[in-house]
Amino acid sequence: MDDELKQALMWPMNYDLHTHSNASDGEYSPSELVKYAKDRKVEVIALTDHDTCMGVDEAIATGKEIGVHVVTGVELSSLWHSNQIHIVGLCIDHKNVCLQEFINKQTEKRVQRAIEIGEKLEKCGFKNAYEKAKLLCAEGGTITRGTYATLLYNEGAEMTQDRCFAKYLAKGGKAYVKPKWDGIDCAIEAIKQAGGLAVLAHPKCYDMNNKWLRKLITDFKKQGGDGIEVSGVMMNQTDRDFLASLSCEYELLASCGSDFHRIRNFVDLGFRLTIPEKAKPIWYDSRFRLKV
Ligand code: AMP
Ligand code: MN
Ligand code: MN
Ligand code: MN
Repeated sequence: MDDELKQALMWPMNYDLHTHSNASDGEYSPSELVKYAKDRKVEVIALTDHDTCMGVDEAIATGKEIGVHVVTGVELSSLWHSNQIHIVGLCIDHKNVCLQEFINKQTEKRVQRAIEIGEKLEKCGFKNAYEKAKLLCAEGGTITRGTYATLLYNEGAEMTQDRCFAKYLAKGGKAYVKPKWDGIDCAIEAIKQAGGLAVLAHPKCYDMNNKWLRKLITDFKKQGGDGIEVSGVMMNQTDRDFLASLSCEYELLASCGSDFHRIRNFVDLGFRLTIPEKAKPIWYDSRFRLKV
C-alpha cells in the first residue's frame, strides 16, 4: 500500500463493505455501482457479489478513474446446521487459485439450482423463467433467489418482491430448491487461502434465536472467522449494540455494509452505517487493504 492510501485509512471515511452488482443479483454494473458510491459520498466500497469475483476488476478500474477506494470482496454461501449462512470475504486476492476453485464448484451448484428453480416456476406458469433470469444479470453472473424475486415481480406475480420471495422462493415456497452449499468451514478456508478477512454477514437475518446465534459465532470464530457485520441499513440500534457486544466478547472485528442491490425504500448505498464505539472497525486491522 502506498503512503497516500495508508494516510487515507487514518482519516474517518464512509465505508460500505457489502454491496452487489449485476455480476450477481444487484441492478447496477460494477462500474455504475462505483460511480453511484461517488454520488453517495461513500469513499470506500467493497464489491461482494454472491459466489463470484467477476465484477471486481471493473470496479477497481472505475474506482481508480473517479477516486473511490475499492476493496476486493465476495459473499460466499454456506451451510451450518441446515441454515444458509453468508460469509463475506474482504481484501481477498480475487485471482487466488484455491478461492477460484471454490467459486467454480459453487458456480456449478448455483447453475444447477437456478435451472431447477426455473423448472418449478415453469410449472407455476412462468415461461422460460431460467432464460429470463439469465438476462437480469451480466453474462456468466450468479443467479440467486433474489434474481428470481426480481423476475417474478417484473412478471407481476405479486405486488412486492418480498411477497414473490415468500410465495415462491423461501423455504416451503412453490419453487423452493434446497441448496447444496458446503459448510462454513470451507467458505472461511477459501477466503483465508486468498489472504482475506472472513466476515459473518447480516447475523440478524438468520432465522435463529440468540442462543443459536452465539453457537454459530462460536463455530465461526473457531474455524478462523475474523469479523462480523454489526451495522447494516435495516438494523435498529438495539441490534447494533448487541452485535457490537458480541464482536467484543468473541474478539471479532466489526464490519458494516448496506447489502445494496438496488435503490429501495430505506436501503441505499452507505446509508446509516455507523459502528458502535465499543467495537473495533475492521479497517483498523493491519490486514485490511484497499485495492485502489
Ligand atoms: P440465494 O443465495 O440464491 O439463496 O438467494 C439469496 C438472495 O435472495 C439474497 O441475497 C437477497 O438478494 C435475496 N432475498 C432474500 N430475501 C428476499 C426477500 N424477502 N425479497 C427479495 N429478495 C430476497
Ligand atoms: Mn442478494
Ligand atoms: Mn447475504
Ligand atoms: Mn449480500
